[in-house]
Amino acid sequence: MARLGMKFGGTSVANIDRIRNVARHIARERGEGHDLAVVVSAMAGKTNELAGWCEEAAKLCDRREYDAVLASGEQVTAGLLAIVLQERGIPARSWQGWQIPILTSNAHGSARIEHIGAAAILNGFARGEVAVIAGFQGLHKESGRIATLGRGGSDTSAVAIAAAIEADRCDIYTDVDGVYTTDPRIVPKAKRLDRIAFEEMLEMASLGAKVLQVRSVELAMVHKVKTFVRSSFDDPGGLKKGTLICGEEDIVENQVVTGIAFSRDEAQITLRRVADSPGIAAAIFIPLAEANINVDMIIQVASEDSGVTDITFTVSAADFARAQTILFKAQPQIGFSSLHGASDVVKISAIGVGMRSHAGVAALAFKALAEKGINIRAITTSEIKFSVLIEAAYTELAVRTLHTLYGLDKA
Ligand code: ADP
Ligand code: ASP
Ligand code: MG
Repeated sequence: MARLGMKFGGTSVANIDRIRNVARHIARERGEGHDLAVVVSAMAGKTNELAGWCEEAAKLCDRREYDAVLASGEQVTAGLLAIVLQERGIPARSWQGWQIPILTSNAHGSARIEHIGAAAILNGFARGEVAVIAGFQGLHKESGRIATLGRGGSDTSAVAIAAAIEADRCDIYTDVDGVYTTDPRIVPKAKRLDRIAFEEMLEMASLGAKVLQVRSVELAMVHKVKTFVRSSFDDPGGLKKGTLICGEEDIVENQVVTGIAFSRDEAQITLRRVADSPGIAAAIFIPLAEANINVDMIIQVASEDSGVTDITFTVSAADFARAQTILFKAQPQIGFSSLHGASDVVKISAIGVGMRSHAGVAALAFKALAEKGINIRAITTSEIKFSVLIEAAYTELAVRTLHTLYGLDKA
């Protein structure tokens, strides 16, 4: 007998039939005698609809009320799943974040979980109940208001709850049967990975693979939660296949590159003819940092004799307009001649722990992309990944090219 965390995403609970299918997976695990903490997302499309209504009601709405509205989606599915389970004769009850409680930080819309009251769930187990918990939401620990965890946050709810109840495993059920070498919607030849290291999954998620929220992978890594990604559409009684996210030491065979991720959530800013002198980088990047704008890739091109330079960098698409306003305001201190912005860019990244011990991995990509006529606008590298910024129109071609280049078509 084990204690399990289970999480079902939006497409897995999109209607009552699918919720019944989820109940079959739960019945199977229950039949094995396991205690179950089940986290659910809102029905597919629901969170977008709720967010749209908030935006329609007021362009810049009160984030606390936005959270109150958005959290309702998960409340509905938690209640419905409990009803369906009871209907099958399985004792179950629904829990909202504030009832457990799941206490969070104050950042409405992107709150972090700070504490989970595991006792409520464990007492439910003692009564023989399945706990059905609304994902994506918690209770702000000071104001007592409902807070949400950022898009995709139910993954984080699930891993955090699994850690809090010291679960033997956390199964994330979604609409694909595991983590693939790249998004299978873009590359049909993408292959499912049996295992992926926490560090690699963390990079994949933060570089655009939305199969898991980044924070959920961080928590799984820190608390050593064995996390298994699988499909809710697989036969509930059939063989279980999926991807185990685990420590590097548990992976026998390492490819140099494990996966390719891409993010369209990027924007590029170039400042022309900036003085090539000390203090200029600070004049540009400090005002952006003060406005909480993250800068990712940075390139500086100095010309030897003129004493001026061009600086190119990227910010997230959501911060693009704000970043430009801030830079124009700081123009007298920075002294650039013009600002060029582009949001039709994509960041393509290759990830693999094998890069630590192999040189020249990125260079191969530069050559392969050049051969396809794809111009690289910026590059960043770190220990287990490299990223290139290119024109968005080439996204699929570039992802496929790298996927083939690193042997992933036949992984
Ligand atoms: P859920 O609603 O279950 O949380 P998401 O839509 O958030 O599901 O995440 C699953 C989707 O993530 C898949 O349908 C797939 O298109 C996408 N995805 C992106 N990169 C990958 C990857 N490397 N492996 C698997 N899925 C990926
Ligand atoms: N329903 C939320 C979203 O769509 C949380 C989640 O599904 O993980 O982002
Ligand atoms: Mg998701």
